[in-house]
Amino acid sequence: MTAQNQTPVTAESLQSEITRHLKLSLGKDPKHASLYDWRMSLSLALRDQVVEPWFASTRQTYEGKHKRVYYLSMEFLIGRLIEDVTINLDVEGVAVEAMSALGQDYYTVVANEPDAALGNGGLGRLAACFMDSLATLAIPAYGYGIRYEHGLFEQHFENGQQTETAEGWLAQRHVWEFERPEVAYNIHFGGYVSDEGGKAHWHPAETVLASAYDTPVVGWKGKWANTLRLWAAKPVKLFDLDSFNRGDYVGANAPERLARTISRVLYPDDTTQDGKELRLKQEYFFTSASIKDLLRRFLSEGNKIEDLPNHVAIQLNDTHPAIAGPELVRLLIDKHDLSEEAAIDTARQCLAYTNHTLLPEALESWPEDLFARILPRHHRIIQMIQERHLQQTGSHVRIIEHGNVKMGELAFVMAHHVNGVSALHSELVKETVFSDLHAAYPDRILNQTNGITPRRWLYSCNPALRGLINDTIGTAWHTDLEQLQDLNAHLDDASFQQAFRAAKATNKDRMAKWLKDRNGITLDTSAMFDIQIKRIHEYKRQHMNILETIALWNEIRDNPTANWTPRVKIFGGKAAPGYALAKSIIHLINDVAATINNDPVTKDLLQVVYPENYNVSMAEILIPASDLSEQISTAGKEASGTGNMKLSLNGSPTIGTLDGANVEIREHVGAENFFLFGLTAQEADAKRGEHGYSRRAIESSPVLSRVLGQIAAGVFSAGDRYRYSDILHNLYEHDYFLLSCDFDEYFAKQREVDAVYQDVPRWTRMAAANTAGMGWFSSDRTIRGYAKDIWGTASVI
Ligand SMILES: *Cc1c(COP(=O)(O)O)cnc(C)c1O
Repeated sequence: MTAQNQTPVTAESLQSEITRHLKLSLGKDPKHASLYDWRMSLSLALRDQVVEPWFASTRQTYEGKHKRVYYLSMEFLIGRLIEDVTINLDVEGVAVEAMSALGQDYYTVVANEPDAALGNGGLGRLAACFMDSLATLAIPAYGYGIRYEHGLFEQHFENGQQTETAEGWLAQRHVWEFERPEVAYNIHFGGYVSDEGGKAHWHPAETVLASAYDTPVVGWKGKWANTLRLWAAKPVKLFDLDSFNRGDYVGANAPERLARTISRVLYPDDTTQDGKELRLKQEYFFTSASIKDLLRRFLSEGNKIEDLPNHVAIQLNDTHPAIAGPELVRLLIDKHDLSEEAAIDTARQCLAYTNHTLLPEALESWPEDLFARILPRHHRIIQMIQERHLQQTGSHVRIIEHGNVKMGELAFVMAHHVNGVSALHSELVKETVFSDLHAAYPDRILNQTNGITPRRWLYSCNPALRGLINDTIGTAWHTDLEQLQDLNAHLDDASFQQAFRAAKATNKDRMAKWLKDRNGITLDTSAMFDIQIKRIHEYKRQHMNILETIALWNEIRDNPTANWTPRVKIFGGKAAPGYALAKSIIHLINDVAATINNDPVTKDLLQVVYPENYNVSMAEILIPASDLSEQISTAGKEASGTGNMKLSLNGSPTIGTLDGANVEIREHVGAENFFLFGLTAQEADAKRGEHGYSRRAIESSPVLSRVLGQIAAGVFSAGDRYRYSDILHNLYEHDYFLLSCDFDEYFAKQREVDAVYQDVPRWTRMAAANTAGMGWFSSDRTIRGYAKDIWGTASVI
């Protein structure tokens, strides 16, 4: 491996490389360099370190004819790239030293990098964690996605309400990527299909160019590097000169406009699908380019097309790339002359599909007429796939039904395996959305519980805890996270406990300073930091948390001298711009914060903060500082969650429901180290069948009734009694997410949390037991599971 042959980076060598890049790549005299210039030079100097391992890995994959994994995902929520490289090459210390010798603070330079926010939340972050683990495990892999010009919007609060502005990460030079102008594919839309000589011919109406940009993804200690290949849409011809010459200046720009809209912006919603034509075009655009690219690579190695499944494993991250099935079948039939049956069979042996949600509003489907207009050839192929599926299985489940093309059913039928993302979720996939398809294909569904990369979510973001763990059990956990269980032997050791608390205190101080610098807010770091960070959604129930906060405020005011446990309630998260109720919840949290934070009676006991614009970089500050993790979704609705894993791994016990991966987290850390409450998924379903359940639950809860009465009276809205009537109406009339039914148990469990927190040795033990028990949730374990059970690949070193 070249990586081992490379001369190790020293502070001196890095320093001189940074200076060289500053002068020769940036054209800057060090005397006049700005923060931006330093960041670019540092990035280029680090990037140079990745190139050799990257080449070596590619060479080794070609030479060994290894099977490759292709991870197709509409989203990659990466965060800062400098960090990915310094962690994995283990050169943070060296970089700190080099920058300091140049008179610069490394961390200030790093903080200057905008997040690569090409995703909404958990699904996109999972893809980023998987890329990290694939590289660390040395499994040859490509990530394929879209190079959005604008990532997830930036969130601001105006008078407590969310506003959005466009994000512009590519407005600056993005030095981590390599443009590949020679790797480009024509992607077609529209037109019609004719039949000539027994073959179908697609005559498309529009064409755009998919152009590749590659970012190396380096694994632990630089032993292996894979590629993240993102597609940008470009016009096939830059400019329509005919139109221009006719005086039609707008028409002359039309080809460029169409092309650029396709990769212009990430859809900012992760829980509903709005059936827009542009979204379908985005999905086909990146999927078609990826399939053409992997076929080109496969054929360039002299393989026969029938051999494809031995060399190619394609994983569909949700249904967004589900068009991969019909696209691959189309190419196999129309370009490679396979029979229909052989084409479907070959494609299916390559494809696997990950389901991420059971929420009906999130399951993609397209009006058949729209679909047939944009992708006429694929429409026919899907009809053919459906016919064969119906005939072969005797199943009555259709892909096209009631004038809609259903992408979940399409992905399922075209995949050799379908997986859920936690044990509970995978069972619910069998019992609910895909129960009939499960009966037709009983061996198809399996489970791969999500994981998180420990490099970013412990090693890098929590240096204080990293140091303590290294000192206590050594460093084997860096690549084998289950070694953390060795911490169990130290849980009751007083000096370990004290060091554990010191690490938490360091992280709380760091977060407090970050918030002070950012918003001028002062936090009481001796208080419990109680954190709920995730997209704002009714099923995640941030409103239950803020109602509980109001209830606690009431109790403190009723009895201010009781032995209260001081708390800081911390919220973070964005609402989809079109999701009105989620935006109301944000407004309510900010209104409640304004009221409570200005109450002299409770000000030393209760504080509510909601920093704007939650993203990966913010998560890296907040998670290590957390004392309590809020994972309070309605049971049966959170497919897995990964925020729950990050917090628990960083020594923050969970208050939560039996939902998603919470179930498995509780098993791994021990029931005694988890604050459980609420209905189970089964009980929740039964509850929804009871007439008038929410009104009855509210009326039988004095605590909740009082809180809702205060909101209705305008206590948090300057007397405006209607500001939150949407939330109130929802809770009284159709509380689908069962907030009213879980509230009292949640409130009671929070009081138990208060009591345990005051028992310092007991709390410390619980927190540390969470870290010790979380090793299984490494995304390395998850990727090994996919490799063995689904892809048929393995580490090549
Ligand atoms: C991990 C992560 C998520 C997912 O959080 P959940 O609590 O699982 O919904 C979302 N956004 C960011 C920035 C994350 O890092």
